Formats: sequence, C-alpha cells, structure tokens
Amino acid sequence: MIKSQTNCSDLNEPDLITVTTALQKILAQIKPLQQYQRIGLDHACGRTLYHAVIAPFNVPPHRNSAVDGYAINSTDLPESGDTSELVIAGAAYAGQPFTGALAPGECLRIMTGAPVPEPLNVVIMQEQVERFNNTITLDHTHRRHQNIRQAGEDIVQGCPVLLAGKLLTPADIGLLASLGLTEIDVTRKLRIAIASTGDELHSLGSELAPGGIYDSNCHTLKASLERPDITVVNLGILDDNPASLQRCFEETATHCDLIISTGGVSVGDADHTRTALRALGSIEFWKVAIKPGRPLAFGCLNKTPFFGLPGNPVAVLVTLYQFVLPAIDKMLGITDRPVCPAFTALSTEAIRKRPGRTEIQRGIISQTTTGHWHVKTTGQQGSGILRSMSLANAFIILEHDRGPVKKGDPVTVQPFAGLL
Ligand code: AMP
Ligand code: MG
Repeated sequence: MIKSQTNCSDLNEPDLITVTTALQKILAQIKPLQQYQRIGLDHACGRTLYHAVIAPFNVPPHRNSAVDGYAINSTDLPESGDTSELVIAGAAYAGQPFTGALAPGECLRIMTGAPVPEPLNVVIMQEQVERFNNTITLDHTHRRHQNIRQAGEDIVQGCPVLLAGKLLTPADIGLLASLGLTEIDVTRKLRIAIASTGDELHSLGSELAPGGIYDSNCHTLKASLERPDITVVNLGILDDNPASLQRCFEETATHCDLIISTGGVSVGDADHTRTALRALGSIEFWKVAIKPGRPLAFGCLNKTPFFGLPGNPVAVLVTLYQFVLPAIDKMLGITDRPVCPAFTALSTEAIRKRPGRTEIQRGIISQTTTGHWHVKTTGQQGSGILRSMSLANAFIILEHDRGPVKKGDPVTVQPFAGLL
C-alpha cells in the first residue's frame, strides 16, 4: 500500500495560507521607496506625486464670464414685470480686460473667459437680450452673480491641490499646468528585475530543441510592467541550477528594488528557486490557497523583496494582479489610483468549485438588453492555457469559502478594463 504524501492539491496543510493572509504578509514586508525625482510636467502622467502641491495662486485668477453676453450692475436690473434698456459702453475679451469706468445705465459686451470688472456682478447670455445698435433690452429674470466664475472657484490659493500618493492622471497634469508648474516631484522609478527559470525555455528567435518551449512569461511580465513609473531589468532565462540561480539573484538584489521570477517554486526535482531564496534571505510563505497560483513564494533577499511566481503562464498573470501589483503600488507610495471595481454578474453556466481556496477563473462579461451583467467562462481553465486569459475580459473570483456555482448564480467579476 502507498502512503500518500502532501501534494499541490491538498487544501488542509498547516503552511497553506489564504489569499487575504498572503496579501497582508506581503504588504507588511513592503516598504515605500521614499526617494523622489523632479521631472518635467509633460512626463509626469502615470507617475506618483511625492510631495503635496500647494496652490501658489487662485485658479481662475480673476472673476470671469462663463458665457458670451453682457455684463451689468445688478442695480440696473428691472423690477419684476419690467424691462431695462442699457447702453453698451465697451467690450471685454478673454485676455483683453476692460479697464474703463461705467456709469449707471451702462453695460459691457463680454466674451467667455474675459475678466468681469468691478462693480459689475451679473452676466446675461446674449441670446437673452434684444440688441438694437448700441443698446440692449433685458427683462427681470436675471439674478446677481449669474454666469460669473469666481476667482479661486477651481483652486484656492494656499490650499493643497493634489496630495502625495496621487497617481497622476491627465486631469491632474492639466490642473498642475493651470498653476504654472513646469516641474513636479514624483517617486523615482522602481527598478524591477524579471527572470524566467526552466531548462526547457528558449528565447524568441532561437530554434526549439526537442521538449523545448518558448519563454512567454518574460514577455507577459514585460508587457505588464513597462509603465512610466517602472524600469524593467530583464535577467533572461535562468537554468534550473541552484548555484547559478543563487549567484544571479544575489547580484540582482544589489541594484534592483524588486525581483520577480517565474517557475521553479513547486516541489519538483528541478524547482530550485526556493532553495536559492532560503540560502540568500528568507521565505515568508510559499503556498497560497489560490487556483491558479498555489506555489507562490514571497520573501526578501537582504532588503529586496522577491516574488517567485509559478511557471504556468495563467498563474503568472493571476498572481501578478492579485499580489505583485498591490506590492508595487505600496513601494511607489501610490495611495490614490483610479478604482477598478469588482461587481456581481450572473453565471450562465455551472462552475465546479470546492470550498477552501480562492479560484480565479477567466470569463467574458456582457450586459443584457435589460441591463443585467452575465458572465461565462472562457472554457478550459487549466493554468497553462493562456488562451483562457487572452479570450477573457474579466476575472471570475470564486471566494475562499464558496462551493459549486449553479447556472444563474451571482458571482463576483473583476473587469480587465483599468486592470491591465
Ligand atoms: P514550473 O513552475 O517551473 O514547474 O513550470 C510549470 C509549467 O510552466 C511548466 O509546464 C513549464 O514548462 C511552464 N513554464 C515555466 N516557465 C515558463 C515560461 N517562462 N514561459 C512559458 N511557460 C513556462
Ligand atoms: Mg520549471
């Protein structure tokens, strides 16, 4: 009789931790970079603001007209039911303020964005007056301050406009430009090393040997991580050899902020990543109750955090999104990025699932004519089947304690929009 040993599908091992615990342990180890660089505003989109920005002046800097029309003094507004006739005594354009003085009974032709001079306090749209030569006639329906944009209505001088930790968006860049800022302090770029491990792997452009496959993980990771705030250092393909892995990781830890390897973290005879990690630093955990992505090692080499992702291509992407990207956000000090909400959709099919691990399947979400969201899986969900990810537009998140899904059951979906 064979005495079975623990394997990759056992759910009740003591060192198997939940997704939530894994993420907590990762974030507890990760420290924000605390180093910044000053860069030109036009290169700052997608970077993280390091110091809060205080408004040096009001935006808009002066009261100005929100419409094309006529600026008047409210003392010239007619009584209810009456009309007033006012003489046009001058004109104000955006960039060409009116500097003269107006007598009672006079008004100003004014264009959108032109400063509204004191003591005028009403702007009337040109469509709402009758003009005859140099006079306008208006009725009683107008109110003080209408159609006037107040100085500081957008940004008040001395107030924080953007806080540290903001991932800068195009709107933020415009806001900073409206304050006349040409340069800005952002967290310096994160240097992330990526490595593929496996004797079967070949680089693109080389011929496949028998039993060989192309290294796709390195390209998936590069495509995911090449962003304005990251420099990717590609270590290439590393042999399944403990000594050479060790040498490479040790050297890399001296000049990179984070190391991500794929493959070699499971329990096979050629899985040496954990051995190298243990020899050089510490392993925080290496088994997470998640499918795909169960063998996932996280630790530190000296002070450099290290993710040993699984080799299977789908597991790489799933663990990257669930564990690595939140860690990267923390290192960069990002506390405010556009949200990517998960929501509920109805499953159009039954899905097998057992309680005791989080399963992240790949699905296609669509909205019915009645506005309800439905989701179907992309078919075969093996962790090596990268097409299941390429066909998908969302993750289907089947929570840790959840059992099988029946057709029509609600499930949590996380759309790729904003995630990828
Ligand atoms: P491992 O975790 O090293 O046991 O690898 C698990 C599976 O993923 C094996 O079938 C590997 O051939 C495959 N694999 C590992 N690394 C890569 C890679 N960089 N690109 C494509 N497939 C990979
Ligand atoms: Mg391998």
